[in-house]
Amino acid sequence: MVRLRDIRRLTRGLRFRLTATYATFFALLLIGVTGAFHVRLSSTLNTQVQDVLEQRWAAMKGYLRIEPNYDTGKIGALWYYDPKDPDESRIVLGVRSVYLVTDENGNILPDLEGQPSVSEAYKDLGVDSPKSIMADVRQTQATSRPLWTTRRSRQGVDYLVRSGVVFDEFHRAPYFVALGYSRAASQKTLREFSLLYIAVIPGSLILGSFLGWIMAGRALSPVRAAAQAAQRISSSNLSLRIPTRNAGDELDYLILTFNRMIDRLEGSFQQMKQFSTDVSHELRTPLTAIRGQIEVALFTAQTTEQYREAMFNALQDIDRLSQILRALFLLSQAESGQLVLQKSRLDLCEVVRDQVEQFQIPAEAAAVRLSAELPAECPAEVDRVQIERLISNLLSNALKFTPEGGQVMVTVRDAPGLAAEQGVEHIEIVVEDTGCGIAAKHLPHIFDRFYRVPSAGAAPAPEQGLGLGLSFVAWIAKVHGGTIDVESAPGKGTRFTVKLPAPGIGSVTMELASPPVAQS
Ligand code: ADP
Repeated sequence: MVRLRDIRRLTRGLRFRLTATYATFFALLLIGVTGAFHVRLSSTLNTQVQDVLEQRWAAMKGYLRIEPNYDTGKIGALWYYDPKDPDESRIVLGVRSVYLVTDENGNILPDLEGQPSVSEAYKDLGVDSPKSIMADVRQTQATSRPLWTTRRSRQGVDYLVRSGVVFDEFHRAPYFVALGYSRAASQKTLREFSLLYIAVIPGSLILGSFLGWIMAGRALSPVRAAAQAAQRISSSNLSLRIPTRNAGDELDYLILTFNRMIDRLEGSFQQMKQFSTDVSHELRTPLTAIRGQIEVALFTAQTTEQYREAMFNALQDIDRLSQILRALFLLSQAESGQLVLQKSRLDLCEVVRDQVEQFQIPAEAAAVRLSAELPAECPAEVDRVQIERLISNLLSNALKFTPEGGQVMVTVRDAPGLAAEQGVEHIEIVVEDTGCGIAAKHLPHIFDRFYRVPSAGAAPAPEQGLGLGLSFVAWIAKVHGGTIDVESAPGKGTRFTVKLPAPGIGSVTMELASPPVAQS
């Protein structure tokens, strides 16, 4: 049994609506065309009947004389033609098939045999009263135009009647003549055509709608296939794609857009998966350490000193844990767009100078010479806190990975060539060191979250960071409309170049450096 819900679903479907629109349009078109055709046909048929009557009127004027009867002396309607001539006989017979001749007072004139000049067919239409005929005579004389009327016979056949005035031979008085012609033939033709439309319209409508239904189904079948393919895509098989048909149409474009969206979703999903794996891994290490310290305190420590040491170590790991959590929170806020930049116009050189000054003490402690080459000023529209974070991350990394006696150098300068390329002036902040460098195979990954370059061989490994610093630096550069690049030569040093949009810098360059490193 067909349920109401199924019917509703069907009628809401695109296929049904397309077919219904097409069928309605087709029906209106058919009705319009046949209507116009009907009107045209009916007017043509009417003109034909009028033409026949005009021809008969002209013939009547050639064969009819209104004059006194030779025998009786009475005025009569006499027809002059040769009865032996078949053409003349046929014409006069035709004219006299539906006719009436009266004097101007509406009295029917006698013919040659003394019979009233009115045919049986005309009688069937009903002869008007003398008064009405007199009125007609006056009207046609006044307007000099024939009268056209439609009358129905007793048998129910419509006739077109042309009436007007003729004069006797001496033009003494007007006489009334009416000629009729049956409309039966033209009405029959019209009826036959009408029946034909009535039979053809529903048939062609049904056929047209059926074809429309099939065509809409065929046009929409790729959409159904695409929807089915899309349904198969779930979080566990995001690698599936909807196959394109290479038709280059709107549907292909839609499929392409959808596939690109799935690409992005897959990327985000992959990132999320990787992130949760990394996070659980990162959290497990300090948690295991804390557990170890507590176990030491519980089961093996005996002296106060041992207890204190275990607790101190546990506290250090807890610190690291909360440090990780803080960094993660910041990063997730940044990536989800919740961290709104507080941009203001400021002097970038001043920010860099402050940071370099703050790092002088740790640099001295690490016996590394930290210097800066800065222009007098460098106005830029940036978020001060984030730019400070970017520089301090790069500086702390540079100091961490540069051995004693090395150098770290910060430069702010115009970025060559970028203005012509992108139409916006850029400056670059370069942080370079003479540290351990990064092997080429690690370079593409150092901006990834939690990525730390494994320490090489026997070299003493610097204190392990979280592997989050550079990913945050890359994010800051990106949200400021800038980029970050790295070049490195293992054993010689590393150079990070951050390019930021800024109108350009003053010309004077000044140097800022820590005192010469005291060699131990
Ligand atoms: P971390 O907090 O561990 O320093 P980062 O994301 O800041 O994490 O850096 C990722 C990795 O890149 C570091 O583990 C380190 O191996 C490498 N690295 C970063 N800066 C430098 C540098 N200036 N010299 C050498 N290696 C570096």
